[in-house]
Amino acid sequence: MKPISIAIDGPSGAGKSSIAKHLAKEMGFIYVDTGALYRAVGYEVLRQGGEPSDSDFVEKLLPGLKVELKHINGNQRVFVNDEDVSDLIRTPEVSMAASAVSAIPAVRRFLFDLQRETARKNNCIMDGRDIGTVVLPDADVKIFLTATVEDRANRRFLELQQKGIETTYEEVLEDMKKRDFDDSNRKTAPLRKADDAVEVDTTGNTFEQSVEILSRLINDKLKERSGS
Ligand code: C5P
Repeated sequence: MKPISIAIDGPSGAGKSSIAKHLAKEMGFIYVDTGALYRAVGYEVLRQGGEPSDSDFVEKLLPGLKVELKHINGNQRVFVNDEDVSDLIRTPEVSMAASAVSAIPAVRRFLFDLQRETARKNNCIMDGRDIGTVVLPDADVKIFLTATVEDRANRRFLELQQKGIETTYEEVLEDMKKRDFDDSNRKTAPLRKADDAVEVDTTGNTFEQSVEILSRLINDKLKERSGS
């Protein structure tokens, strides 16, 4: 039987990854965080001393770059040239680098097959910006998760504080506004809701409330599909 795929797109900080991770565990699906792939490329560009928006530099680096996803004890780990970089890619600097490299079409092509193949082989919940529109246009369920930019910046700020990463709310808010703008206005695969995606606004929700809403929505959609 063809594996089931659930696409969750939306801007950063709307709760995609924590909600998707939780639901995937509950459903016994794998969770695929595609942002980690763009972060891995951004991380490697910075490590090599490059400028993430310099498409010539980035394109030259791609043939020598191996990016892999592994699922270990139910958790996704990302490897760059055999090194586990999963924790190193979570800094604000790598967030901005990921956003810059993600606007380069060659980078999107480079990561496309890996995302497609993972969904072809496994029941998965995949989150990102273009999953429902480009990567998995035939996904069984498509959700577009949003929240106000202030709500999202607040969540991300608290997460970074918990990890001991020094920053201010204002800095996080500014970075988030810039990423929103860049991700929505780039030429290739911009962030946008697929026509057949259901939009869910998580502003003001607790984590549990958002999980409940998405869980019900996914179950209803899957039932509808199996009945039709
Ligand atoms: O989701 P996350 O914040 O980790 O993503 C980092 C960056 O990677 C985003 O700002 C976006 O520019 C890019 N991205 C993308 N397409 C995806 C996932 C992430 O362009 N499917």
